[in-house]
Amino acid sequence: MAFESLASKLQETFKKLRSKGKLTEKDVKEAMKDVKIALLEADVNYKVVKDFINKVNEKAVGQEVLESLTPGQQVIKIVHNELVELMGKTNTHINFASKPPTVIMFVGLQGSGKTTTCGKLAANIKKQGKRPLLVAADVYRPAAIKQLQVLGQNLDVPVFTMGNNINPVDICKNSINEAGRIGSDVIIIDTAGRLHIDDEMMNELKEIKEAVKPHEVLLVVDAMTGQDAVNVAQNFNEQIGIDGLILTKLDGDTRGGAALSIRAVTGKPIKFVGTGEKMDALEPFHPDRLASRILGMGDVLSLIEKAQENYDIKKAEELQEKLLKQQFTLEDFLDQLQQIKRMGPLSQLVEMIPGLSPKQLAGVNINDRDVSKIEAIINSMTKAERKDPSIINGSRRKRIAMGSGTSIQDVNRLLKEFSETKKMMKMFGSADSIKKGKLKLP
Ligand code: GDP
Repeated sequence: MAFESLASKLQETFKKLRSKGKLTEKDVKEAMKDVKIALLEADVNYKVVKDFINKVNEKAVGQEVLESLTPGQQVIKIVHNELVELMGKTNTHINFASKPPTVIMFVGLQGSGKTTTCGKLAANIKKQGKRPLLVAADVYRPAAIKQLQVLGQNLDVPVFTMGNNINPVDICKNSINEAGRIGSDVIIIDTAGRLHIDDEMMNELKEIKEAVKPHEVLLVVDAMTGQDAVNVAQNFNEQIGIDGLILTKLDGDTRGGAALSIRAVTGKPIKFVGTGEKMDALEPFHPDRLASRILGMGDVLSLIEKAQENYDIKKAEELQEKLLKQQFTLEDFLDQLQQIKRMGPLSQLVEMIPGLSPKQLAGVNINDRDVSKIEAIINSMTKAERKDPSIINGSRRKRIAMGSGTSIQDVNRLLKEFSETKKMMKMFGSADSIKKGKLKLP
């Protein structure tokens, strides 16, 4: 998890603070010293840390806080608010043009994840019912055009290219006509990056910006590069002028400094974060939710949103009915697993549950491979076996293990767990007795 070490240190500091009934000014100042070190170790910009600590100290050492019934909680609340303030309070969306097409220009250094993120944003926008057009304007990096074409093909999004012998400015200008011709309402331009900032790149970007007058210039930066990402952001903003940022690779073990410093240093908001290589691994950036996650308050809202997007409520109701009537089969179990899998990697889901400290999280042994194994086993069963596992005898177990590429022990374990789950269900008795508030114990 990104921010793991920061979260762990802050939560440790606040646990100490909370355990004291009364707080003195000295207690708070000492805690803030720890917070300062934790932030610096997370690679947050030094000036940003200094301002942050000053602000928290100013608010936290007053009589009102120290003499309140829950001084520790009050201090955490202040830190939470200041973290949110630091990252920009509300999340900001893409500004779509009132008269289409909306032009979105992606800029960023090579390797930051620009091309991948163009694809992710196209997928995201398509989901909203719009018709994006991807534009291949990176004519220098070998295979950049091909990469975008493959992404477009997989997403079923058109890609405009004129090869790599045409001036990128002309390609971008022409893409607007193309969007009109094929009825696209959002143009997403993948411009060329370089390994480092140089004048040639900046001049080209300025020319493209001037030629197509984009509604959004989005800078893609790699969160793993920490303070370099912040410097890159400042540089691009000064030279080109950006509207917002997308911070990629937040799924890695980045210390998080970039996410916490960029807004304060550049004044520009982080609009999305990349949390994986797949096309659906793009999330709107919610400062309040991230602050809650860092301080161990969980992120229930994101969890609910993911569930709403991917979970079939009607099916869930049917399932509940089946559970209560004890008609729950392995087929239903598989269905459940598949729905949960659609919500994203389990490790990321678990992170959003409040109350689990990073240390506890590390101890939670949730593994996507286990889920795939269970899926393979159930898929290797016949319909009759899924409905009534009691018919699965020794030779059937052997066949299922072979078919799913697992072992007989794996099959046994699944069947045992399933039968135990069913036994548990029995404890709840009929739907009727639950409704009446009477639980029937075995
Ligand atoms: P570009 O040179 O800026 O266009 O970068 P690419 O789009 O080719 O991405 C560089 C590498 O970063 C590729 O291997 C991507 O799969 C990977 N990448 C991009 N975004 C993310 C992300 O959010 N998480 C992870 N783990 N990898 C990413």
